[in-house]
Amino acid sequence: MRTSLSYLSKKVAELQPSGIRRFFDLASTMEDVISLGVGEPDFVTPWNVIEASYHSLEKGYTAYTANAGMIELRRLIEEYLAEQFNVRYNAEDQILVTVGASQAIDLSIRALIDPGDEVIIAEPCFVAYAPIVSLAGGIPVPVDAHAENAFRLQPEQLEAAVTNRTKAVLICSPNNPTGAVLRTEELIGIAAVVENHDLIVISDEIYAELTYDEGYTSLASLEQLKERTLLVSGFSKAFAMTGWRLGYVAGPSEWIQAMLKIHQYTMMCASTMAQHGAIEALKNGRESMLAMKKSYKQRRNFIVNSLNDLGLECHRPGGAFYVFPSVKSTGLTSEAFAEKLLQEEHVAVVPGHVFGKSGEGYIRCSYATSLKQLDEAIKRIQRFLQRL
Ligand code: PMP
Repeated sequence: MRTSLSYLSKKVAELQPSGIRRFFDLASTMEDVISLGVGEPDFVTPWNVIEASYHSLEKGYTAYTANAGMIELRRLIEEYLAEQFNVRYNAEDQILVTVGASQAIDLSIRALIDPGDEVIIAEPCFVAYAPIVSLAGGIPVPVDAHAENAFRLQPEQLEAAVTNRTKAVLICSPNNPTGAVLRTEELIGIAAVVENHDLIVISDEIYAELTYDEGYTSLASLEQLKERTLLVSGFSKAFAMTGWRLGYVAGPSEWIQAMLKIHQYTMMCASTMAQHGAIEALKNGRESMLAMKKSYKQRRNFIVNSLNDLGLECHRPGGAFYVFPSVKSTGLTSEAFAEKLLQEEHVAVVPGHVFGKSGEGYIRCSYATSLKQLDEAIKRIQRFLQRL
């Protein structure tokens, strides 16, 4: 008789589990763990959003919505993107509401990538990109953003990675795990490479609201990229709605309609109650969002200063809620550092190499946790470093 494993599809059998999971499994067996490991807000979703969602249930809105998402929500997304990021899409045919930004990325790749197509991925990056590309039969081609450039991908690096099989580029700014925010001139340089080689861009802008310093430019707002870009975003991070599973993707009508075909067969629509919550988030959630953002900025400043004081060299990232300090001075690999820190001081961080080769020597610390917890984590890290 065949073993159960032998029935798995080759693609899935070859897929590696996320390197983050091992740490969470380990941390879940321990007590008194301070987690700087998870990539999600510590805030509960704003109350008015929760209330709008459960009122929608009370009113009996429990059926499917339109496949592309409620038109009221899509119109609000259209307005929001135009007002906040200066990008213009038509709610009727250029915006698709998805189950998290995760599904938006998956649909983008499935709709546009044929087996053998190369997709350039700026690393270090969110762990899902390469597996999603591989599952679609595409070939992920990593390009390393370097610490010398504060982990901002440079246009020349992109140029050097293009081959005649390159079809798409996947970019995330502000970035997970480095927090790096690409500068406008870098985006313009990247746009030129994309145009010259007739490529397309999937721009993951899920952290776009969470930038703390200079103004933010959306890649999708560059006129020359308008017809070549899919803008991916969602409610998880800025509105503290990770568990609601709600995101969206906007782009040229032909692409969105192609994605809608996959979506209608595989998902039908995103959760109805979550969509009602998202409508409230866009109508009346801005103030709460800005309050959370203010708190992230304070925490960022605290953790960057503290880590640098401890000798763990760390850029001051412009966005998201991660810092990516170097642990090279300790002589440990990032995996050994993270494991030892967890075992000895019960502080969970994520070793940088899980986000790509260039992440080796760094750790990702999420500062989406209270200042009190961050302060305690810093004390423990200090004790840990003194013992090394
Ligand atoms: N993109 C990036 C860069 C992320 O960090 C995450 C979540 N960690 C996602 C997408 C997925 O977000 P969602 O919860 O909306 O699926």
